[in-house]
Amino acid sequence: YKEMRGNFIHDIIDNDLETGKWDHIATRFPPEPNGYLHIGHAKSLCLNFGTALKYGGTCNLRYDDTNPVKEDTEYVDAIEEDVHWLGFQWNKRLWASDYFDQMYEAAVSLIQKGKAYVCHLTAEQMKEYRGTLTEPGKESPYRNRSVEENMELFRRMKDGEFGDGEAVLRAKIDMASPNINMRDPIIYRVAHVTHHNTGDKWCIYPMYDFAHPIEDAIEGITHSICTLEFEDHRPLYDWVLQEVGLWPNPPRQIEFARLNITHTLMSKRYLKRMVDEGHVDGWDDPRMPTIAGIRRRGYTPEAVRAFCDEIGVAKANSTVDIAQLEAAVRDDLQDKVPAVHVVTNPIKVVITNYPEGQIEMCTVENNRKVPELGEREVPFGRELWIDGDDFMEVPVKKYFRLFPGNEVRFKGAYYITCNEVIKNEDGSIRELHCTYDPETRGGDAPDGRKVKGTIHFVEASTAVRIRIREYDYMMIEDEEGNSVFNEDSLRDTWGYAEPSIKEAKPEDRFQFFRKGYYIADRKLTTEDEKVFNSIVGLKSSWKK
Ligand code: ATP
Ligand code: MG
Ligand code: MG
Repeated sequence: YKEMRGNFIHDIIDNDLETGKWDHIATRFPPEPNGYLHIGHAKSLCLNFGTALKYGGTCNLRYDDTNPVKEDTEYVDAIEEDVHWLGFQWNKRLWASDYFDQMYEAAVSLIQKGKAYVCHLTAEQMKEYRGTLTEPGKESPYRNRSVEENMELFRRMKDGEFGDGEAVLRAKIDMASPNINMRDPIIYRVAHVTHHNTGDKWCIYPMYDFAHPIEDAIEGITHSICTLEFEDHRPLYDWVLQEVGLWPNPPRQIEFARLNITHTLMSKRYLKRMVDEGHVDGWDDPRMPTIAGIRRRGYTPEAVRAFCDEIGVAKANSTVDIAQLEAAVRDDLQDKVPAVHVVTNPIKVVITNYPEGQIEMCTVENNRKVPELGEREVPFGRELWIDGDDFMEVPVKKYFRLFPGNEVRFKGAYYITCNEVIKNEDGSIRELHCTYDPETRGGDAPDGRKVKGTIHFVEASTAVRIRIREYDYMMIEDEEGNSVFNEDSLRDTWGYAEPSIKEAKPEDRFQFFRKGYYIADRKLTTEDEKVFNSIVGLKSSWKK
């Protein structure tokens, strides 16, 4: 992370270190534990943890649980697993609700300074009083209550004497501010809800804009990085810290543009709906943009981090082409992953001049680009399977693979010539009768004759049937241009693989030779049946 690409946030940090405003850096990642993390969160994780690492500082994992909802340990566990999977280690793991006492004290201190008041306007009235972008707001009739009255009313709010919505505590700032967030925002509300952490101790809960700066300040966060929607909230963030006044060197909020990716909907609420309605196989379905999903899909943490670094950190919203993420995955896998031979839509090949019952082993490299990944042996025999795409009875122009009368190289084995197409009664192909040239073992002819095509094969008697799940984008556009769930985003198919596939463990990755990258599914793969997810194809549509 010393090499993490610089950005405008790092410029601010460099300056703060130079001027002596700070002598260390502390960041935090503050998820709401109401769903699984997605690739957008990965960007925030890389930025917060990466920045801490780059500057030798710290990053806290802080659950933003000021909103009282039922605890969901499933989400908490998933978030922690995802952070670790990405390769990050938090300094402290904290709960915002642990600061409720301090937040309450801070609110009391605002009342005492005459900077907060209890208000009973209904939600509807509140909206009406707030004004608009072009019109100033109107002051609440409760705005000029005495400190004593406000103290008494806030205590009564805390003691449960008001029902939900009957009273709120508001910051007394400026109803005529051009920034609507500064028009006496609500800082505490009544909610008679049991909190997973504090139980029934509280029936009043702080609002995000009040709670967040206090959480940051208590933890000694130096730079509080958040997404652009909070830019207009920054004056309130600063106001809270200034008026509460406990922190002489308060944290600074800095906003960056959230990550958007084509074909990707990053809203926990939407993703939860997809799970609840059964459109996908859980939060970790390989089509999901969740970190759990892309992990199961076979993306690597290295690729996700490289992608987040490559796209940089901007001040303006934009949308990244998903092909760029796929390219990062491909770049990472191409030097790491061994190849195996797999054929789909198999066609049987019979080598008529090869002895029946004989099997020989052919040596093939595991990764053409990386010799260190070694070699392996694949069996060759009289009956073989080839891929449906590697044969055409009537070849199109520039087709160099197998067709009647043509000779091709069988990868690592021999030159093979197709002599005859044997058909079933219904006209479909039953098998191809071919001959091999024993002089070409290893893939070269002593007479120097060349063939244009090299195809792979799987020996029939040792072939292993595997299941293959091919994925398309989860989100596509309908005729009206709306982003909708792609009902054809999963194709469950199968193929024959060379016998070495039997050794594959869940989460092992391979290049299916000439096809693409695949991973053994961590949930569906068993001893008896290997199930593979397509990670990404071999060819990139992304140009750097
Ligand atoms: P969603 O809107 O998808 O439900 P959220 O913003 O409500 O996400 P939080 O748990 O509140 O989710 O987010 C934790 C952190 O991740 C926040 O600091 C937030 O700004 C950041 N974050 C969320 N989505 C993105 C994104 N698409 N790009 C960058 N950062 C993001
Ligand atoms: Mg949120
Ligand atoms: Mg959100």
